[in-house]
Amino acid sequence: MSDKNKSITPLCCATVQKYNTVFLCFDDEVMWYGGSEGFTNKKPKWKSGSFDWDSNSWDDVEVKFCPHCATPVPEIRKRSTTEKICNVTDGGYYCDTCQERLGACTCHRPEYAWEPLPPQQKSKRYNINPYDTVAVAEILKNKKGRMY
Ligand SMILES: [Zn+2]
Ligand SMILES: [Zn+2]
Repeated sequence: MSDKNKSITPLCCATVQKYNTVFLCFDDEVMWYGGSEGFTNKKPKWKSGSFDWDSNSWDDVEVKFCPHCATPVPEIRKRSTTEKICNVTDGGYYCDTCQERLGACTCHRPEYAWEPLPPQQKSKRYNINPYDTVAVAEILKNKKGRMY
């Protein structure tokens, strides 16, 4: 698998990045009926593979948490990049970016236009000993007007 086709995974743990169990993926209707706007303003979702025994094929299903470490899936933002990213505005035939047929397009997949926000830094309070009164007082002092 080339780097260009690498799945975009959350960054919460090594396992999800190794096995790509959660990846960014557009909904089918966006892929097939993207219409004249292409993917530029569409937002992919965090999905996982789901096997359908009836049709003997893989499907994808939206997920809210990492199955390995239970971290909620991160928010995503537009990636700032100058790399070529596939865009399709003709209903699924040619790539707008490189003008190739989709089968021959070597651009990054459309999902590459997005990236996960980096994992949140653990706030200091998780490491605090509750019997450490000085540290606790410090936290209470800082807590005013702050979320964490
Ligand atoms: Zn994880
Ligand atoms: Zn292309």
